[in-house]
Amino acid sequence: MTQTVLTWHGHACFEIQNEKRILIDPFITGNPKTDLTKENVKADLVVVTHGHSDHLGDAVEIALGNGVPIVTMVELAWALKKEFKDLLVEGINLSGGVTVSGVKVRSVIAVHSSSYKDQYVGSPMGVVIGDGFKIYHAGDTGVFRDMELIREVHHPNLSILPIGGYYTMSPAEAQFAVSMLKSEYVVPMHYGTFPLISGNPEEFKELVDKTGVSRTIIAKVGVPIVFGSDGKLLE
Ligand SMILES: [Zn+2]
Repeated sequence: MTQTVLTWHGHACFEIQNEKRILIDPFITGNPKTDLTKENVKADLVVVTHGHSDHLGDAVEIALGNGVPIVTMVELAWALKKEFKDLLVEGINLSGGVTVSGVKVRSVIAVHSSSYKDQYVGSPMGVVIGDGFKIYHAGDTGVFRDMELIREVHHPNLSILPIGGYYTMSPAEAQFAVSMLKSEYVVPMHYGTFPLISGNPEEFKELVDKTGVSRTIIAKVGVPIVFGSDGKLLE
């Protein structure tokens, strides 16, 4: 296993860097909390959990600019490909997945919706990325019992979970997600970007601490979180 560096770029946007640079849900334009500008983003792969603008974000421009594919749900992939002929897409579907540029991406359920330009575009998804150190990015989701199955099938080392409420789980529901996933580390996301998503990461951490199941890492935008080749947080 190589070292893994995880960096939050605000909202649901995360960058995973191991031998490759993987960018998930790159919402930059219009994101008041991001540290990125879309012109200087480098990526070997862009992963998009669903079509909502706060997730698809600047993915097309970044993928085209870097000459790299977008991995997303098949209906959204088709819609994008129809509009952007030069775009490289990998349209996967639930429980499926793909290995692109040596990066393994598996698709899992997300209990949410997905639209692009006011049209429904299939299901949303969560993703499990990696082979050694596995990161589960839940996308936007409510809590659901099959998170137990995600643990049984994929054993993610780290889970990135929305906690903002309103559109997704709030800290109270996310705590149940943590108890089912039992990953060593959890990172809250999708809060504080806008007033509507007011879930508090400290409250989430307190709830998770009480269960003793996982260790919460409250990411700071733009500050890398480093995991060693043994999968342990470097401090
Ligand atoms: Zn969202």
